[in-house]
Parts: sequence; structure tokens; C-alpha cells
Amino acid sequence: MKKSVEDYIRSIPDFPEPGIIFRDITSVLQDADGLQMAIDAMQAFINPEEVDVIAGTESRGFLFGAPIAYNLHKPFVLIRKKGKLPCATISKKYDLEYGTAEIEIHKDAIKPGQRVVIIDDLLATGGTLAACNALIEELGGVVAKNVFLIELAGLNGRKKLEGYDVKSVVCYE
Ligand code: IMP
Repeated sequence: MKKSVEDYIRSIPDFPEPGIIFRDITSVLQDADGLQMAIDAMQAFINPEEVDVIAGTESRGFLFGAPIAYNLHKPFVLIRKKGKLPCATISKKYDLEYGTAEIEIHKDAIKPGQRVVIIDDLLATGGTLAACNALIEELGGVVAKNVFLIELAGLNGRKKLEGYDVKSVVCYE
């Protein structure tokens, strides 16, 4: 039987701590068919005529976002962890399960009115993408979609991203 992208996702129990099932995408990338299927399936959610820019979140969002931007012949914008981008930035703090994180984007990365699709590997609580969406909007961009390879539905990330067009390829309860 033909494999689906889900077959390439490896589930690691008790990582990074007891009780957590970590969904590992390195096993997807390490297989030529898995990699191609993942990129194709994520890209299929995007109508290139309705999008100006693809953005990816550090770091696994880069792995999927850049090939999609290349395939669609769109610019690719990096949303990085605080302190790594060299030019003028705006940043946003958000809550993690323990503590906080901060991400940033170059001020000149998005022009007002540009329609942006943000790509990440996985939707958990939605905190990361909510912060990314806020950064794009602060620069005057319009968030067209949030696209993930994997969604952990039990963590209610969609609730935090209410009002946005959220798409995922593989969903775990
Ligand atoms: P959120 O902000 O809670 O939605 O967390 C999403 C971020 O956590 C993504 O950038 C993921 O890379 C990472 N993440 C959380 N859980 C997992 C997992 O099981 N596998 C891979 N990445 C994860």
C-alpha cells in the first residue's frame, strides 16, 4: 500500500520529559518520499495567487517554509528567536509551558498590505503562531494562513488562533 506522510512521523514517548509523546519530523526529512510528500501536502493548502510572502518560524518552520517559497516563487521571511537577526527588528514575547520566549522579525521583511502564509512544523498550544501572527500584523501585513505539518488537537491551538485560517496535514488527538 502507498505510504502517507503520517507513516514517516516518528512518535517518541517520554521526550523531552515523562508523559510527553514527541512527534519527530527528522524521520520525515530523512526519507526522500517523506520529505516530498510533506512539502507537497503543506503547499497544497496555498493558492499562490492569494499570497505574497511565505514566512517560517525558527527552526523547523524554515525546513518546510523555504522549499514551499521556492516552489511557489515567493519571497521567504525568517521569524527568529530573539537576538539573531542583524537589522532593525520588532519582537514579541509569548508564554511557554514553563517560562516565556521571544521571537522577532526584520522591520523591512513585510510591506503593508502583503499577504503572508506562516509555516511551522507543529501546532501545539498555538502560542508561537499567535505571536508570529501579531508580528506580521504589526508590520501591516495580512495573515493569509497558518500551515503546519502536524497538529496536536488536544492542546487547543486552534482556539488561540481563532479567526485565522489554520491548516494541518496530520492531526493527533
Ligand atoms: P506551541 O507554541 O505550543 O504551539 O508550540 C509549537 C512549537 O513547539 C513548534 O515550533 C514546535 O516545533 C514545538 N513542538 C512542540 N511539541 C512538539 C513535538 O511533539 N514535536 C516537535 N515539535 C514540537
